[in-house]
Amino acid sequence: MKLSVKPFDLKLTTPFRISRHVQYTAANVLAQLSYEGVTGMGEAAPSEHYGEYRETVLATLKLLENELGDDPFALDDIFKRINRALRLNPSAKAALDMALYDLIGKLLNVPVYKLLGLNAAQTPLTSFTIGIDTPENMARKALAARDYPILKIKVGTPNDRANLKAIREVSNAVIRVDANTAWSPKEAVRAINELAEFDLEFVEQPVAPHDLAGLKYVREHVPLPIITDESSITVEDIPRVAACTDGINIKLMKCGGLYHALKMIHVARAHNLKIMIGCMIESSLAITAAAHLTPLIDYADLDGHLLVDNDPYVGVSVEQGKLILPEGPGLGVTERTTAM
Ligand code: MG
Repeated sequence: MKLSVKPFDLKLTTPFRISRHVQYTAANVLAQLSYEGVTGMGEAAPSEHYGEYRETVLATLKLLENELGDDPFALDDIFKRINRALRLNPSAKAALDMALYDLIGKLLNVPVYKLLGLNAAQTPLTSFTIGIDTPENMARKALAARDYPILKIKVGTPNDRANLKAIREVSNAVIRVDANTAWSPKEAVRAINELAEFDLEFVEQPVAPHDLAGLKYVREHVPLPIITDESSITVEDIPRVAACTDGINIKLMKCGGLYHALKMIHVARAHNLKIMIGCMIESSLAITAAAHLTPLIDYADLDGHLLVDNDPYVGVSVEQGKLILPEGPGLGVTERTTAM
């Protein structure tokens, strides 16, 4: 197999603010794997929070190219070699993983969801995310997103109440909130009990990633389900967090791709956890890869491609929030030929 890589930038339509930082662009990387005249595509969306940058992705891909071997179907062997060669670097590994699934789907002429035995009609609705802004701007964005039946609202600021009040005045959508580790356990209990009046579906990651005692305390003192994101990165995290949360948010860029995400899904189910699949700021390429797994899960937050101006690809589409998987072989992603 031959690997080629190409960096590309995604430009956010509007600055994307969460409790700990603000993002204007995403420095992503395309990985292409060629084998017997067929090419599979994957994408890395490195996140500084998980110790990755575009430069580390490029270096990782160069290093791991030697571990790919000659058989794209030997996924288990390939990922064993890759993980032995280098720890961490999950978004770089995810790009290779996606390219492999895309490649073998194309070689077999089946979409990835079929390769996995899944039913495309079973995809859930995705939420549409609104970053932290003024109450007026957040309400304006909620109104503009009225085609999406589920909104995910970023919280973890002193203005959460005013922000949700303004959004609720213009929207009847299902609302889930994400604090991105902003609160201490006591602050979380106070904030969540106060915000519960706005009829929320669940709260994502109220406290620091490693504060599992705090997480448990919060869960026992609020009326809403808790979903972990920053606390549940890989499959090994699931048994640790299982008693402290109602569910986990899986991201390809945290766990290393579809192969590892599938393991997480099955382990999470064995622990009676709800499962969400989320994303970073990604193009339709990586979003579509994640979407192929969504017939297996409860909640989708696959909107990274909807938040950018210059998505270079076409893949999964979203109709009234419903994820519609493409029918083409592999990931079913093609290059965009018309302007957005
Ligand atoms: Mg989150």
